[in-house]
Amino acid sequence: MSNRSKFMLLIVVSTATFALVAKAPRACAAEKLKILIVDGQNNHNWKAMTPYMSRVLEETGRFEVDVATTPAKNAAEKDWEQFRPDFAQYDAVLSNYNGEPWPEQVQQDLVKYVRGGGGLVIIHAANNAFPQWREWNEMIGLGWRGKDYGDRIIFDKQGKQVRIAAGEGANLGHGSRHDFAIVVRDSEHPITRGLPREWMHAKDELYHGQRGPALNMQILATAYSDKSTGGTGEHEPMIWVIPYGKGRVFTTVMGHVSGDDIIALRCYGFHAVMNRGTEWAATGKVTLPVPENFPKPDKVNVDRKQK
Ligand code: ZN
Repeated sequence: MSNRSKFMLLIVVSTATFALVAKAPRACAAEKLKILIVDGQNNHNWKAMTPYMSRVLEETGRFEVDVATTPAKNAAEKDWEQFRPDFAQYDAVLSNYNGEPWPEQVQQDLVKYVRGGGGLVIIHAANNAFPQWREWNEMIGLGWRGKDYGDRIIFDKQGKQVRIAAGEGANLGHGSRHDFAIVVRDSEHPITRGLPREWMHAKDELYHGQRGPALNMQILATAYSDKSTGGTGEHEPMIWVIPYGKGRVFTTVMGHVSGDDIIALRCYGFHAVMNRGTEWAATGKVTLPVPENFPKPDKVNVDRKQK
């Protein structure tokens, strides 16, 4: 080998070594998905919800969570000018927000982000927000809206999906808080694959009569809304997904909190659904296993570490 060849070889080897070393930290960092929780206004205690949901997500080892908090209600315009979350930095955005409309620019940024392949996660009252925002309503499919606003979807006794036109059927609402069974309707989807077909969810509000454009919805689970608890006597959607552009939107209407009482969030079924739904929204896949503490068909199971 000539000196020149040796010299060239040395360069190739050192470049390769450098490339390996330089690549390693990036590969590690890429294993954790970056999630942005947006909060700041909600008719629920978001100050209790966000830290708890962040902890549950981060304890899986799969996520790294940041929080973007909007100005409070009736804040000055200059405060809103400071609220410009950089959605593009994240694998998924989780909305724990139900309040005043975001600035036009932020709305456009979110739509662009999801259309371009981003993930959006909607928890409980986050689907109450933004009735006037057309793309938001397309992304969430069904929201807390009056019965004339749009269609509604239920499952009949035979397990068939039924669309009810705007203006017909039950109005929006929920009965009293209680434990209820979540029934998986699609066990092929990555989020629900491997979950028991039916399991007991701890003391939550069971949303009914949600309305919207309801386009491209894939409903993964429902719950029976018993009239004895103030419900509709129908099977109401609890978990669904919608493709939006190149992105993915995951919604669960579970997750009510009353003051400091976050028992519905402490349900291990809620944990698993939120974690898996968030991973799916971020990547289109679910690698998180069904946890051993997952609730049984006849028995709730809640996190006792936090009251
Ligand atoms: Zn609620």
